[in-house]
Amino acid sequence: MPDVVDLIRAKRDGGRLSGSDIDWLMAAYTGGQIADEQMSALLMAIFFRGLDPAELRTWTAAMISSGERLDLSAVPAPTVDKHSTGGVGDKVSLILAPLVASCGAAVPQLSGRGLGHTGGTLDKLESIPGWRARLDNAEIVSVLRTVGCVICAAGAGLAPADRRLYALRDVTGTVESIPLIASSIMSKKIAEGTGALVLDVKVGSGAFMKQVDAARELARTMVELGQAAGVRTSALLTRMDTPLGRAAGNALEVEESVATLRGAGPEDLVEVTLALAREMLALAGIQADPAAALADGRALARYQEMIAAQGGDPAAPLPAAAHTTVVSAAESGYLRGLDAFAVGVAAWRLGAGRARKEDAVSASAGVVCVAKPGDQVTAGQPVLELRTDEEARFGRALEALEGAISIGPRPPEPQPAVLERIGS
Ligand code: URA
Repeated sequence: MPDVVDLIRAKRDGGRLSGSDIDWLMAAYTGGQIADEQMSALLMAIFFRGLDPAELRTWTAAMISSGERLDLSAVPAPTVDKHSTGGVGDKVSLILAPLVASCGAAVPQLSGRGLGHTGGTLDKLESIPGWRARLDNAEIVSVLRTVGCVICAAGAGLAPADRRLYALRDVTGTVESIPLIASSIMSKKIAEGTGALVLDVKVGSGAFMKQVDAARELARTMVELGQAAGVRTSALLTRMDTPLGRAAGNALEVEESVATLRGAGPEDLVEVTLALAREMLALAGIQADPAAALADGRALARYQEMIAAQGGDPAAPLPAAAHTTVVSAAESGYLRGLDAFAVGVAAWRLGAGRARKEDAVSASAGVVCVAKPGDQVTAGQPVLELRTDEEARFGRALEALEGAISIGPRPPEPQPAVLERIGS
């Protein structure tokens, strides 16, 4: 039996871990024979030394083996999912899953909750009265068979090692490691049983990866892991310097998603959603035009069916905040920048996000971007609307927005929302 301290020393000194070492480590950690402080030391050694491609494949496979794999073989259509590394105003999943399903694929979108300044898909959908995030495996397959898409919580049985490792990384400064992020994301997605996967790797101030080089490396690493596990995988790098669309906050984002499904979506949100939809359909081997399905109401009808299948009432009014305040343009000109991170933190402080994973979130709190970069503004005109049920939250939210808005005499250069594609 290997000795954990020897393995920590080996990685610390730049050595490699064998396949059997990694299998033993993961089994011993999840079985309680390795202490959290020892795993923390190993994670820090990996943070500095990395994992080579073979080590990373074994590490990811060992995380998958720590739990169950969802069996989607009873689903008659090709399965394809999307994962986003997280951003501000990123409500793409709510539109994309029904859109791609309406074109003939099955979309098993097992999602998480928001933590920190980025929102979580489940928190957004839970602002719909009656909607249920928790489905058992049989219900997931049943909704996929009848509706063609499901957005629900990833059950505790999928890659349980990740839950423990992620909690440890969160408190030991070891989150921002490409092999650890890639294995964490891909272990859950591979265990979910999807046949194909498109990764939306966000780049910019509101994203995990602030620089395009790091985002590209993360995307390549995840694409390789997916392909090695037999999941057809590709990635798009998309911009996250400014919020996607105009709304950041749970019910506000559901409202904007429905408006987009009705054909009245903001340009950047529509561009990213259609690019991801095309990529998903190509990987699923389906020839269809998602722009047509968005325009003619097929995607909206599928969204309504999906919400109803999970107990929600798609026609019910959404919660609205009791208090609103505005942030106005300090001068006249063109809005040149509206910082995604600052808007995300403001929405979080208004109550839309949580500081600890057990905290509740407010459905109605958030930020509406009345103006977006490129828009012409006049001094005193509202740029942002802040919404909350607790007036006392405005002060800290406004602090987060200091310096977030830049205005100049000329409009910024138009930027594409999709920067790059990675895949074979
Ligand atoms: N999301 C995950 O699931 N894991 C990470 O490590 C980072 C983001």
